[in-house]
Amino acid sequence: MRIIDLRSDTVTQPTPSMRKALAEAEVGDDVFGEDVTVNRLEKMAAERMGKEAALFVASGTMANIVSQMSHCGRGDEMIIGDQSHIFFYEQGGSAAIGGIHPRTLPNQPDGTLPIQEIEAAIRPADIHFPKTRLIVLENTHNRCGGAPIGIKYMKAVRDVARAHGLAVHVDGARIFNAAISLGVDARDLVAPADSVGFCLSKGLAAPVGSVVCGTDDFILEARRIRKMLGGGMRQAGILAAAGIVSLNEMIDRLAEDHANAQLLAWGLADMSGLSIQPERVKTNMVYVEVTHTDMPSTALAKKLETEGVRLLPVGPNKLRAVTHYHVTSDDIGVVLNRMSKALN
Ligand SMILES: *Cc1c(COP(=O)(O)O)cnc(C)c1O
Repeated sequence: MRIIDLRSDTVTQPTPSMRKALAEAEVGDDVFGEDVTVNRLEKMAAERMGKEAALFVASGTMANIVSQMSHCGRGDEMIIGDQSHIFFYEQGGSAAIGGIHPRTLPNQPDGTLPIQEIEAAIRPADIHFPKTRLIVLENTHNRCGGAPIGIKYMKAVRDVARAHGLAVHVDGARIFNAAISLGVDARDLVAPADSVGFCLSKGLAAPVGSVVCGTDDFILEARRIRKMLGGGMRQAGILAAAGIVSLNEMIDRLAEDHANAQLLAWGLADMSGLSIQPERVKTNMVYVEVTHTDMPSTALAKKLETEGVRLLPVGPNKLRAVTHYHVTSDDIGVVLNRMSKALN
C-alpha cells in the first residue's frame, strides 16, 4: 500500500536532480571557507533574501540559535510569540545555550504580535531590568495554521524596533510559502528584518540544512557561533548541492502544495466529526479539530494509519496535515475518502 504521509513537509525525500547534484558536487573544507558549493549556496541564498551574506547551517533550530546569539548577549531579552517554534519546540535553547531571556507575548490567530504590546514590552533603562535587544517573528507561522504574515506588518515591527534600537529576526523556516501565498518577492517580505533563517529541508525537499541571511558583520558573528555550537562542517558541499537545487527548482512549485491544502481543507470542512475553518488555510498547513465523540486525535490518526494515511496529532483534539512535493491532488481525494470512512 502506498503511504500518503501528511505529517510534515520534512518527510520530503531528495529529488532525482538533488541526488545527482550531491553525487557530483565539488567540495572542500568549509571551515577553511574552501567549499565552493557551500559558498555558491550562501551567495544564492543571500541574493534571494536581499541580504549581504548568508551562512549554511545544519537545521532551522541552528539557524535560530545562531541568530539569537548573534543579536543578544547573555541576560539580554528578546520579545517573541508564545506560540513560536523557537519558544515551543527548540529545547529552550535560547535560555539554555544563549542565556537569552524570552519575553513572550500572545500570538494572535494570524501569527502576529500586537504592535502596542511589543512597544509596551520594551524595557526602559533601569538597573532592575534586562536589556531588550531583539524582536522575533515567525513567517509562515507554524502553530498559527501556517499563516503568512504580510509586508505591512513586518514594516510596522521594524519601525518599532528602529525607534528603540532593537534588531528583528525572522524565523522564516517556510518564508517562500509565505511569499508565494502573499504574491510578493521574498526579498521584500524580509527587507524589514535584520536577519532571516529559512529551511531547505522542508517544502524545498533538500535532505539537510537551513540558511541564515543578514549583514556581513552579522554573518561573521553567526559563523563564529555556529563553530562554537559544533556546527562547522567540512565537505558540506555534498549537502549544499541539494540546497542549490531547492532554490533553483523547488520554490515555484510550492503553489501546488497550497492548492492541495485548499482541496484538503474544503473537503474536510464537509465532514461531520471534524471542525475546520478552510478560509484560514493560506499555505501548505491544514489544522483540523476532531469533534467526533469518543475519538481523540490519536485514535483517529491510528485508524487512518492502517489505511495508509499519516496525519500528525498535535493536541488531544487536533490533527495536522501538511502538503508537500510527494502529495498529489489525486492523493488528496484518497485522503478525503479514507477520512470519511474512518469517521463513520
Ligand atoms: C521546522 C521549523 C524550525 C526548525 O527547523 P529544524 O530544521 O527542524 O530544526 C524552526 N521554525 C519553524 C517555524 C519551523 O517550522
